[in-house]
Amino acid sequence: MSDISLQGIQPLSLPGVEPGKPAIIAGPCSAESEQQTLDTALALRAIGVTVFRAGLWKPRTMPGGFEGVGDRGLPWLQAVKRETGMAVATEVATVEHVHASIDAGIDILWIGARTSTNPFAMQDIADALHGHEDVTVLVKNPLNPDLDLWLGALQRIRNAGITRLGAVHRGFSSAGEHIYRNNPQWHIPFELRRRAPGMTILCDPSHIGGKRQYIEPLSQIALDTGFDGLMIESHCRPDEALSDSAQQVTPEALQGILQRLVVRSGAPVEDELSLLRQQIDDCDHELLAVLARRMSVSREIGRFKKAHNLRVVQPARYQDMIDARLQEGNSLGLLPDFTQRVMQAIHEESVRQQLKLL
Ligand code: PEP
Ligand code: MN
Repeated sequence: MSDISLQGIQPLSLPGVEPGKPAIIAGPCSAESEQQTLDTALALRAIGVTVFRAGLWKPRTMPGGFEGVGDRGLPWLQAVKRETGMAVATEVATVEHVHASIDAGIDILWIGARTSTNPFAMQDIADALHGHEDVTVLVKNPLNPDLDLWLGALQRIRNAGITRLGAVHRGFSSAGEHIYRNNPQWHIPFELRRRAPGMTILCDPSHIGGKRQYIEPLSQIALDTGFDGLMIESHCRPDEALSDSAQQVTPEALQGILQRLVVRSGAPVEDELSLLRQQIDDCDHELLAVLARRMSVSREIGRFKKAHNLRVVQPARYQDMIDARLQEGNSLGLLPDFTQRVMQAIHEESVRQQLKLL
């Protein structure tokens, strides 16, 4: 079932990107100075990148972070266009950002995850885009793993008359410690692909992984599963970056990554098994994160027991817990024997951790 309201969206042809080849958009998380912007752009152009990204208005989760240079950076992006011939992309989150970017001739506007989460903000942006059908718009997935929220954000932009529209998968927020900064939950962009078959979907491995070492393996998964391209953060001096330092790579490192990535030229990989395996990997990442969180709560309890001179194992509590889990597992279709073995193993490890504290 494809989504009626997203019909009419053609695959994007991005400047300098050969049809059938993965589109590469690269550039720093943030434009920080004219020098840093131009140095990075020139180095990226030299390795063959044709679309440059840099954030000017940075939505930071916590106040006090680097919130971007704002309008002051627009002439820097104009200079990148002039001096390198690259197309330029920046993030817009408000009506003012949209107008300022369009007036400055920015080629591609992307809407970030914190904004695509909010239908009011999306509608304001869509209204501001009315009458600007030439601009290319990319919508990153919302923070929440909710395909409808993402589809709704895309539809609002489509309804504003924009047909040069694509999506960017940047992973989803989740509580607790995970190996990745944002959980990929690959089944969500795969389902988006099914619902909007003609639409370009890019992957942003920088924001999924959160660390530069994950960019290459995540990019390979993206290419192997039919994404149309990659948006990768690259900075001429990543360790000095004012935002997202750990996940940025130098243009030279990016060149190595791009050279090593295998682009399979056959039909898009429709290998159901590998798609399902990715879902298994997602589940296991979550499972391990939850286990780690549980152990940390156990240690907290262990410290409390020590302070109050309580025994580590309290048989009644243990029995109640097992009974409750067996019942819950049963209602989820898990065999009691399996639930029991898993819960015993987890409890055993909790006890071991608490004994260590005594
Ligand atoms: C970014 O691209 O720098 C950014 C802020 O991305 P996201 O909206 O995916 O967090
Ligand atoms: Mn960033």
